[in-house]
Amino acid sequence: MGMNRFVGKVCVVTGGARGIGAAIAHRLGLEGCKVAILDVDREAGEQRVKMLSSMSIESIFIYADVSNEDHVREAIDTVYKRFKAINVLVNNAGIGFSGKSLEEQTLDEWRRIIDVNLTGPWLCSKHAVRYMKLSGGVIINIASTRAFQSEPNTEPYSASKGGLIALTHALAISLAKYGIRVVSVSPGWIDTSAWQIPPKGSRLSPLDHMWHPAGRVGRPEDIAALVAFLASDEASWITGVNIVIDGGVSAKMVYLDESVIEEGLAMLFQDRGVGKMFRELIERLKSYGSVEEAKKRLGEILEKL
Ligand code: NDP
Repeated sequence: MGMNRFVGKVCVVTGGARGIGAAIAHRLGLEGCKVAILDVDREAGEQRVKMLSSMSIESIFIYADVSNEDHVREAIDTVYKRFKAINVLVNNAGIGFSGKSLEEQTLDEWRRIIDVNLTGPWLCSKHAVRYMKLSGGVIINIASTRAFQSEPNTEPYSASKGGLIALTHALAISLAKYGIRVVSVSPGWIDTSAWQIPPKGSRLSPLDHMWHPAGRVGRPEDIAALVAFLASDEASWITGVNIVIDGGVSAKMVYLDESVIEEGLAMLFQDRGVGKMFRELIERLKSYGSVEEAKKRLGEILEKL
């Protein structure tokens, strides 16, 4: 890697015990940054700091729920007391939500997602700025492509990430006078298995990778590399914006034609052969001239099964 862009700097990474946050903490640390990890997973946080220390990265773990103002205030004060500066804040801690229809979603569930994913970054920014304004710095918010695109039944998560992108430009304008830049990064699908404690094997299939124009699902290291660039002086003219990093998925136009059905069925059955077989079936049915004839022939095929 050979870069030392953060020698003498201090970063706070929320949710840095495992997953994307851990890769960010590791990358910034490798480039010379002192690292403070704030997380609610105490065991993983302490383990992560041991791993960083074994690589001569100066780091501390502080137990803090980012949605709790007392925790955040005390944690930020502890970081400043220990390292005498805060230059980079990465608001990465976040929790997911899916699988419940709008009518089943409870107000408590909605509030918890918004509290952690949106109020958390606001609270951490509010308290870190007390120290960041002394030296200038960078705040990076980890949003999601789900701020722009949704599967059904994900309202709290999508709304929290959309809010985080709006918070980013609001903060960028308010904090510019202190020499603080604020940027958000929106990852697509990231396989975090290798950055768990202990690391896990990937459960992805070749087809999961194939769906991505870049040829693979993302890795935490991809996000960490972008965060390191954005936090560095090389990005000194970038503020107030959101950067999508998703292997090209959100740029991919999807029309419902034979190729999408083939790809979709291949993914559903995790078998390219099944997708191909159904595509051939569709081609055959289309050749029958009328919908009625196609239905009749399909009926005959199904009866034989
Ligand atoms: P993980 O669940 O792997 O890790 C998140 C870490 O944050 C965990 O250690 C978790 O602890 C901790 N955490 C959860 N809630 C809090 C809280 N209230 N205060 C402090 N720490 C907390 O997450 P990922 O690495 O997958 O995701 C990191 C960020 O990236 C999130 O904001 C996520 O929304 C975003 N993202 C992830 C994508 C992905 O595909 N993985 C895609 C797009 C965005 P515990 O497990 O104990 O709750």
